[in-house]
Amino acid sequence: MQNFDEMVLHFLKDMYYAERSILKSLPDLAAKAQNESLKRALTQHADETRMQVQRLEQVFAGLGQPAEAVTCEALVGLMQETDDVLKECSAAGPVRDAALLACSQAVEHYEIARYGALVEWLNDKGHGELASVLQLSLEEEKQADAKLSDLAKREINKAAVLS
Ligand code: ZN
Ligand code: FE
Ligand code: FE
Ligand code: FE
Repeated sequence: MQNFDEMVLHFLKDMYYAERSILKSLPDLAAKAQNESLKRALTQHADETRMQVQRLEQVFAGLGQPAEAVTCEALVGLMQETDDVLKECSAAGPVRDAALLACSQAVEHYEIARYGALVEWLNDKGHGELASVLQLSLEEEKQADAKLSDLAKREINKAAVLS
């Protein structure tokens, strides 16, 4: 990464890798959730994630660059951690749901950090129209995070405490 443009492109590719991995993993996580609201939230977020992948492709196209991915080591780590937690928490139920929810929120927080930076950078580059495309994804990630927090507080953690 020798200049700002290359750096921005690098992080776009990083998010392209991350979103595509998330899209692959969400159905499996939804299947492992026992709580119906959690299952629904993860399934709905898979639909949003499909759109987020397309938005990144739109931004690559807007920059005149091919849509390429570079391995996002942070996401590889977060997904590995989720896998480990699910293995250690092998019985389906409220405790595993609480752990699964917390791991899912870590992913949302990563995405919020990255999209937040990308939106700023695209604006700085004078690509306000492309920034606004990723702003939509940023808002979805924030909503997904808020929804998970709400679900944790209203249902899942309460059930987990009693287990
Ligand atoms: Zn790198
Ligand atoms: Fe996403
Ligand atoms: Fe990354
Ligand atoms: Fe997300």
